[in-house]
Amino acid sequence: MKPSRGKKDAGKLATIFDCLNCSGEKTCHVNMDTKNYVADIRCHVCNEIFRTRINRLSSPIDVYCDWVDSQN
Ligand SMILES: [Zn+2]
Repeated sequence: MKPSRGKKDAGKLATIFDCLNCSGEKTCHVNMDTKNYVADIRCHVCNEIFRTRINRLSSPIDVYCDWVDSQN
């Protein structure tokens, strides 16, 4: 039996990221609102919130990347 099926399913999109504000590791959770095409990422340690627009094809990593871009 090939283990490919289980491995593929495990490649689920990450929604937890490191915080750019307090440098916490895996403290930020992305919440995608695909009905209103917005998403936010919130740090549960420092309560930093970043909100951005998304589209149908956006994934949580895109939200995080927007946040990173906005810091530069
Ligand atoms: Zn933080």
